[in-house]
Amino acid sequence: MARSAGRAEPPEAPVIDVRQLTKTFRRDGVGTTVLDAVSLRLDAGRIGGVIGPSGAGKSTLARCINLLERPTGGQVLVDGTDLVALDDRALQAARRRIGTIFQSASLLSSRTVTENVALPLELAGVPRADRRRRVAELLDRVGLLAHAHAHPAQLSGGQRQRVGIARALALRPAVLLSDEATSGLDPETTASILALLRELRDDLGLTILLITHEMDVVRDVCDEVALLRDGRIVEQGPITSLVTDPDSALGRGLVPQRP
Ligand code: ADP
Ligand code: MG
Repeated sequence: MARSAGRAEPPEAPVIDVRQLTKTFRRDGVGTTVLDAVSLRLDAGRIGGVIGPSGAGKSTLARCINLLERPTGGQVLVDGTDLVALDDRALQAARRRIGTIFQSASLLSSRTVTENVALPLELAGVPRADRRRRVAELLDRVGLLAHAHAHPAQLSGGQRQRVGIARALALRPAVLLSDEATSGLDPETTASILALLRELRDDLGLTILLITHEMDVVRDVCDEVALLRDGRIVEQGPITSLVTDPDSALGRGLVPQRP
């Protein structure tokens, strides 16, 4: 294809670009390396999965990507900015690019659904009227407008996870990071949460990284997948080629189905 000089479009940079991420926990002078040179890229609007058995380092990876845990080495680029290199103040702002959801939605039990979703907006200093409008929009998107004034204890597990998703999206992140968000939900509820995530990707162009031990989750919703074992990525690629390839670890079902 002919290209005019200097006008070539650069290849699109990935939204998430984890490079050679290492995490060593040190206790009593003894170091344990939990993540060993993990590299991972995800382009805008893609749903990527990281699957691995219990103890593989998945939660540590999630916590290093949003810098809740400081990596021992490597880089975490989000939209081209290396979070690891930022000072605390800059990191606080950059973290808003990543919304995180966890297995237990971690809602405040004393607050209503509305008040839970409003929390990040309050902390960011968003004025009250704007908060109210934004929360209504978010609850509508996750299908919980009718439960706006309920307390978490009055909701089902799937509904609580929807509140967690709405809260994670409050500050309009580019990335939604999920650590086992559907673990502990029944298959039907899991499917409805995955359908919601797909919808969010399609409607908002959200980039989603799903960290999970559940093969069904990866198979149902991910475009691509990385297999993490003992802190290393041992396989990585498009979901279609890996789960159907009898020579791949994923194709052979070598991921234990337990938390
Ligand atoms: P997964 O989420 O895949 O089950 P984790 O990331 O929770 O795995 O844990 C991976 C390994 O790291 C485990 O062996 C765990 O004991 C260890 N680990 C996690 N957090 C810490 C910590 N704060 N201090 C020491 N070891 C840790
Ligand atoms: Mg975990």
